Amino acid sequence: MRAEARIDLDALRHNVAAVRDRVGSAQVMAVVKADAYGHGMVQCARAARQAGAAWLGTALPTEALELRRTGDTGRVLSWLWVPGDPFAEAIAADVDISVSGLWALAEVEEAARATGRTARVHLKADTGLGRNGCQPHDWEALVEAALKAQADGLVQVVGLWSHFACADEPGHPSIALQLAAFRDAVAVAEQRGVTPEVRHMANSPATLTLPESHFDLVRSGLATYGVSPVPDLHSSAELGLRPVMTLVASVASVKRVPEGHGVSYGHTWHADRDTALALVPLGYADGVPRHASSAGPVLVGGARRTLVGRVAMDQFVVDLGDDESVAPGDEVVLFGPGDGGEPTAEDWAQAAGTIAYEIVTRIGSRVPRVYLGAR
Ligand SMILES: *Cc1c(COP(=O)(O)O)cnc(C)c1O
Repeated sequence: MRAEARIDLDALRHNVAAVRDRVGSAQVMAVVKADAYGHGMVQCARAARQAGAAWLGTALPTEALELRRTGDTGRVLSWLWVPGDPFAEAIAADVDISVSGLWALAEVEEAARATGRTARVHLKADTGLGRNGCQPHDWEALVEAALKAQADGLVQVVGLWSHFACADEPGHPSIALQLAAFRDAVAVAEQRGVTPEVRHMANSPATLTLPESHFDLVRSGLATYGVSPVPDLHSSAELGLRPVMTLVASVASVKRVPEGHGVSYGHTWHADRDTALALVPLGYADGVPRHASSAGPVLVGGARRTLVGRVAMDQFVVDLGDDESVAPGDEVVLFGPGDGGEPTAEDWAQAAGTIAYEIVTRIGSRVPRVYLGAR
């Protein structure tokens, strides 16, 4: 075994149940885009369903279609569409489609006509994120056009939704403004005759810190994978979540080098004493961030160590000091739940100047995922 990402599906089921406990009567969507944040979409989707996720969420329609191909039959919403995307396939596969503007509605209508089926549509309002979604000044026109298509039997507007910009900063002034804008958008749509099954706005940080954002459905991504979306405020454990991914590798070599020896490209680190170095066969091609050069933490030989020198494409080096217990083949833990002394994905995010979302999501396809607790 060079390296593997162990995916604890019991932990994932625990997290989905923990989110369900928090949101009362609201439904839970497990967001499984981007290969379930690097954890493996099909296996994680199945485990999330087992734990009661009534919905799955994907960014891309191809991701939603893959869920269908692999046997998922529950509600699935896909929200990031470009012209020419497989709208007809999605409608035929009973995938819910997010619509942020008139071009998408037109494609949905055409695809619905072609398939002879009514498309399930969620209208997305831009309540302040400034990314996808319909601006307030275009909202009435989008609602009216969708209701006309509904009257024609082509679409059913089943959802009204939006997305936060700063939910990970509780108390940020944009949060209250976005909530108010969302309530306005919902009111406008409902006054004109939209009868949504679900109104939804909350991502993981809002789910965990802002109950008034729960509405009928919460979209839980990072929390599903047990990682805190508000690490400065609460750890995973404090939120009742269990990290799902543990990334390990086998030590490829151990050797002694003399004081002054440089390590890795650019010689950005030199041994300040005679020391032992362990070679770890994971690099930036595997998602180990190069920005964590001379900073990323690992657990090896029962001790926390820091990698030294630059992270290369396939490997990095750990300074073992005078620890003579480490041998080739020993396990190195890059991150995991953190309760066995190992670092967490959040520790790596800090070392690399990024967020834990990026750490887990970018673990590369060369790293096999090994599933624990599959059923
Ligand atoms: C990714 C995404 C989510 C999930 O966000 P988390 O913070 O990981 O829970 C929810 N909604 C939309 C629109 C997203 O793109």
